[in-house]
Amino acid sequence: MKSERVLRMTPSATMEINSTVARLRAEGRNIIGFNVGEPDFNTPRFIIDACAEAMLKGETKYTAVDGILPLRKAISEKLETENGVFYAPDEIVVSTGAKQALNNAVLSICNPGDEVIIPKPCWVSYVEIVKLADAAPVLVETDADFQLDNEAIRRVLSPRTRAVIINTPNNPSGAVYGEAALRELGEMAVEHDFYVISDEVYEKLIYGQSRHVSIASLSKDIREHTITVNGFSKAYAMTGWRIGYSASPSDVAASIRSLQGHTTSNSTSFVQWAALAALKGSQQSIEEMKSEFAQRRLYMAERLRALPGVACANSEGAFYLMPDVSSYYGKKTPDGGRIENSVDFCKYLLEEALVSVVPGVAFEAPDNVRISYSNSMKNLEEGMRRIEGALAKLA
Ligand code: PMP
Ligand code: GLU
Repeated sequence: MKSERVLRMTPSATMEINSTVARLRAEGRNIIGFNVGEPDFNTPRFIIDACAEAMLKGETKYTAVDGILPLRKAISEKLETENGVFYAPDEIVVSTGAKQALNNAVLSICNPGDEVIIPKPCWVSYVEIVKLADAAPVLVETDADFQLDNEAIRRVLSPRTRAVIINTPNNPSGAVYGEAALRELGEMAVEHDFYVISDEVYEKLIYGQSRHVSIASLSKDIREHTITVNGFSKAYAMTGWRIGYSASPSDVAASIRSLQGHTTSNSTSFVQWAALAALKGSQQSIEEMKSEFAQRRLYMAERLRALPGVACANSEGAFYLMPDVSSYYGKKTPDGGRIENSVDFCKYLLEEALVSVVPGVAFEAPDNVRISYSNSMKNLEEGMRRIEGALAKLA
C-alpha cells in the first residue's frame, strides 16, 4: 500500500553508503571513507557555545516559521555584502538544512507535469526532489570540464520548463561556474520566465583562480527569477545541526513559509542562535579548512591522474574529484567476477581495498566515481595506496 510518489523514488545513494560504511566499521572493518559528503572538521567551539547558551537562556520554544528575525537580518546582510544581492529579511526562510530549502523551493513553484532542467552530473537529491513534486526532471549535459552548457539547456526549454537547478561550486564535479555563463542562463530565465534554483552551499570552498558568483546578483530581473539556497553545513562544518535557508522574491518566500508552516515549522530554535553566531563571529575557521582542502585537492588530483587508465577533470571547488574510471569496465576481478559499471567498481574497491567511494551513476555520471578528499592526509595516502593495489589486480 505504498504511494506512487514513494514508489517512484530512489533512496539517496550517498546516505545509503554512509550507512553501509557505518555498519562495516561497527563490524570491525578498517574502511577509509572517500565517500564522505561533509567536512572532516569539528564545528567551531564558539558556535557550540552560542548554542548551549541559547538553550540555557530558554530559547527552546517554537520560533517564527521562517526563523528568528536576528538570524534572517544577519543572512540578509551576508547576502548583500558577500554575494552582492539584497534580500529583505522577510524574503528569507530558514529551514532544516539546505535540503529542506531545496524541497520547499521545488514544491512551491512546480505543478504536476512541469519540467525542471538539471545539468549533469548533479547532486543525488535533485532528481528525487523534482519527482517528489510530481514534476519531471530533464537532465542536460555539461561540457568536458563539467561547465554549464547553456546551449544544451536552451535546446530542452519547453512551455513546461519551470526551473533550472544549478549548483556552483558543484557536487559532485567540483566545477565552479563563471560569471558569463551564469549571466547567459539568468537572461534565459528572464526571457523564458522560469526560475533558477541556485544551490550555493559550497560557495566558501573554492581553490585556485575561480571565484563564486551568485547568479541573483547579476541583475534585478535575474534576481526576480532566482531562488538562492545556502546553508551552514559545509562552511561551518555543521552538517548534523540541520540548518539552511532560501532567499527568494517575496511571493515565492511567502509560499515557502506557508508550506514549511505545515511541515516542519521552524528550524530548531537554539540551532538558529548558533547559526547567528556562525555568521557574526570569526570566519577564521573557514580559511583554515579551505587551506587544508586546497593541499589535499592537489595531492589527490595528482595521485588519481597517475592511476593507469584514469582521467580526472579539473575541480576548482567543494571537496570532490570525479575521475573517469570507465576504462576498467569489462575487467575481471581476482575472484572471477567482472566490473561492468560504476556500482561494481565501487563495490570492488570497498571489498578489495576497504575504501568507500560513491558510484557516478548516482550523480548521472556513469563513467565516473566521486572521491571526497574530506579526510586526513594520512588516510588519503593510505586510501590511494590501497586503490592502486586493488586496481593492479584487475585483468
Ligand atoms: N546541496 C548540495 C549540493 C549538497 O551537497 C548538500 C549536502 N548534502 C546539500 C545541498 C544539503 O545540505 P544541508 O546539510 O544543508 O541539508
Ligand atoms: N552532500 C553530501 C553528499 O553528497 C551529504 C549526503 C547527502 O545529503 O546526500 O554526500
